[in-house]
Amino acid sequence: MAPGATIGILGGGQLGRMLALAAAELGLRTHVFCPEQDSPAFDVCRRVTQSSYDNEAALDLFARDADAITFEFENVPSSAVAFLRARRPVLPDERALDMAQDRLKEKEFLRALGIDVAPFHRINRLADIAPALAEIGLPAVLKTRLYGYDGKGQYVLHDAGEAEAAWTAVGETASVLEAFVPFSREISIIAARGQDGGFAAYDPPENQHRGQILRRSLAPAPISQALADQARDIGRQVAEAIDYVGVLAVELFVTEENGKSRLIANEIAPRVHNSGHWTLDACAVSQFEQHIRAVAGWPLGPTARHSDAVMDNLIGDDIDRWPQLVAAADTRLHLYGKTQTRAGRKMGHATRLAPLGSFGANRPVPETAA
Ligand code: AMP
Repeated sequence: MAPGATIGILGGGQLGRMLALAAAELGLRTHVFCPEQDSPAFDVCRRVTQSSYDNEAALDLFARDADAITFEFENVPSSAVAFLRARRPVLPDERALDMAQDRLKEKEFLRALGIDVAPFHRINRLADIAPALAEIGLPAVLKTRLYGYDGKGQYVLHDAGEAEAAWTAVGETASVLEAFVPFSREISIIAARGQDGGFAAYDPPENQHRGQILRRSLAPAPISQALADQARDIGRQVAEAIDYVGVLAVELFVTEENGKSRLIANEIAPRVHNSGHWTLDACAVSQFEQHIRAVAGWPLGPTARHSDAVMDNLIGDDIDRWPQLVAAADTRLHLYGKTQTRAGRKMGHATRLAPLGSFGANRPVPETAA
């Protein structure tokens, strides 16, 4: 694809917005397709289609306008992807979506690659939970197979008597019961694979959640180089197994057993990821540019970090801190242009930079000034 070409993006949230901005930096145009009015990406792309994903006339026009198509979220309806794929390249392809849309397939895929996952069981009905608990033990987490993100469709069981409450909480739908992992920290690997098979990965960040929503990513995670290398290998194995093109993230738990750290994979996101937002400010080529390069068939860029970084999500009312954040010399503020603040809604993020070596192993992260 040459400069001036158009990349179609399914989904118009903040990830689509940051992808469109990265494309513009490279002289590429974007056309964003999203059902919601006032989507954050609509502000920054050349063309917009506001339509539902089952509108074939709209999808057809969208495909005609784009040279290649990508997406910012994994729950794109597979019918829309199949329709588009018959007209234009969709990258990454359906293998990535097929696997990432279903937690059961995802875990089976990881296990088949020899990557450790928490023990899990398929749950089709309430009666499946008791025998699965007997094998897995407590605590355990019941998660819906489809449409889960940010902890939605999840229930943590501490007692076998909670089976019915858990089943109701997930909406009485096909699920997976998995062991609760007693992790010491959570990290992720953000990796990219190009159309030429080139591979690149960023230093894994540590990710801190509150209410199952990412609050903070710290780059680099305070882990050994050996563990960081293992995380990178997991990213590569996943990407190569499905001939992946673009950026993907694998969320990983770090556990400590007999004085040894171990990685357990939790989830794969076949897209740019919130825990990689710090790459915008701490790396020469961000995860967003990297994804655009891959979709365009261009070589991947360098992933080296020139600074340490702490990325804080601005969730709900956190956005009220923007005047202090924008005034802080060491902080880069990114706001998503969302007009309505709601509890739990990601309104923007702020990345504080520090010289390399500031946040490494055993060095506490200073509190954010604002
Ligand atoms: P997920 O939607 O699977 O990414 O889960 C969201 C968050 O819930 C994770 O980042 C963890 O903090 C927590 N979580 C999910 N599954 C488990 C588990 N099996 N054991 C411990 N914590 C979990």
